[in-house]
Amino acid sequence: MLKYCTYDVVFQEIPDEVSLAISLTNCPNHCPGCHSPQLWRDEGHVLDREALKEILARYKGYVTCCCLMGGDNDPDAVVETARAIHQLSSFKVAWYSGRNFLPSEPQLFQYVKLGPYRSDLGGLKSPHTNQRMYRNVDGQFVDITPTFWRDHLLNEALSQSRQPVEVHHKSSLEFAKTKH
Ligand code: SF4
Repeated sequence: MLKYCTYDVVFQEIPDEVSLAISLTNCPNHCPGCHSPQLWRDEGHVLDREALKEILARYKGYVTCCCLMGGDNDPDAVVETARAIHQLSSFKVAWYSGRNFLPSEPQLFQYVKLGPYRSDLGGLKSPHTNQRMYRNVDGQFVDITPTFWRDHLLNEALSQSRQPVEVHHKSSLEFAKTKH
């Protein structure tokens, strides 16, 4: 069974998509340094078909993707929820898992993020991350993790290109001397 605590529109979790992210509770992974320890607790509202239908209807026309954040306590229910999302909407389906396994019916997902959070390696935006984001391209899961590094790499390149500039100011006396 899946339970959710919140849902919201997000822009950065899935590249090039406006996503409705549903945060699922009862996460069994307990990654050290987890940014959302509140999701470890078994609480929230049951994400059954009726609840899902109501949530999806609210965002029709506003988002392109529905992203299930968590659900490792019941991967079979994640698959069934993905199936229901396709039946109830035209949204793409994404799954953020803290484990390293594709879902049992991967064709139901357009995006899958795999891997636990490791504070020494960082999340998806870190070029050192252990986590991976895959896009389903005609049934092949292509690693698109580097798309999350664009900002980081751009900032690094900009900071390296900034050379100190020497500015020489002439004193008023020097200006006075050069007038004639
Ligand atoms: S999978 Fe995500 S929510 Fe669960 S413990 Fe790890 S970082 Fe936290």
